[in-house]
Amino acid sequence: MSIVFEWFGKVSYSPHTKIADFARHLKDGRLMASRCRQCGYVSFPPRADCPQCLSGEFAFQELTGAGEVVTFTRIDAAPAGFEDLAPFVVGVVDLAEGGRLLAWFGDTIPEGDIAIGMPVQVVPRIFEEIEEIKVYYSLERPGTSWVKTDSS
Ligand SMILES: [Zn+2]
Repeated sequence: MSIVFEWFGKVSYSPHTKIADFARHLKDGRLMASRCRQCGYVSFPPRADCPQCLSGEFAFQELTGAGEVVTFTRIDAAPAGFEDLAPFVVGVVDLAEGGRLLAWFGDTIPEGDIAIGMPVQVVPRIFEEIEEIKVYYSLERPGTSWVKTDSS
């Protein structure tokens, strides 16, 4: 559980300055991975240094957000700060272009429909009112368009 919630309410990527643009892209509703200029390894969340060849040269690559559910779990007893949201379901998704992430299931997928192996669309969301940018993702039916969090 502690690992799960390190991803929520906290910036879920390396704060390295080289990838600071990641947050800006997310604000625009774009899900970005880093792609190593040396070996082509795609990393999500983005990493400034390639975990495969240790090169520090990378470019951002926009992901489609298409993915497949690897596993999921229902959270009934939510940790502090999330009580109002429980019960909710989170899932781990393998992204089509590479990388893996953890996200909530959004409104477009009823709990009873969730299955391992099902295709999903990852949608980035941000609580913009918080100075320390809080990123999370929701899993929606394939074809769900990007939805930016309305901060008003
Ligand atoms: Zn590399």
